[in-house]
Amino acid sequence: MKCPFCENKETLVKDSRHSEDGEIIKRRRYCSDCGSYFRTLEYLLIPEILVIKRNGSNVPFSIDKLLHSMKIAVRKRSVQHEVIEEAVLRISKIIRKENKVTSNYIGALAMKELSSIDQVAYIRYASVYYDFNSIADFTSFIQKVSDE
Ligand SMILES: [Zn+2]
Repeated sequence: MKCPFCENKETLVKDSRHSEDGEIIKRRRYCSDCGSYFRTLEYLLIPEILVIKRNGSNVPFSIDKLLHSMKIAVRKRSVQHEVIEEAVLRISKIIRKENKVTSNYIGALAMKELSSIDQVAYIRYASVYYDFNSIADFTSFIQKVSDE
């Protein structure tokens, strides 16, 4: 890592610390040329995951999009943002082992999370996921869920 002050290319790692889950490493570096200290941060870049949509087209997986769709489902419900963010992180941890996933699979994971977070949000999300068109669609789904 090049020194940001004098551009010397040879700098020394003085200290290295990683986060609890080992996914972030912070380093303190020293430049012996100008005597400066600076810090670097190393973290995992999630490789691009392709999401295969129902119409067969592919889009790159977006954590923001998933977060947004789940936040819409919990709108006006008393669910904390952190709870949804943690659920999204769990989902992204599951799918980042793949390089291709279907939007159906992501939807199923989101529904599984929502079913244990908030029942109303779960049904809202399912109504989009299964493309409910009528009250009958809702009642048969609610019936099915209540039977489980
Ligand atoms: Zn330097």
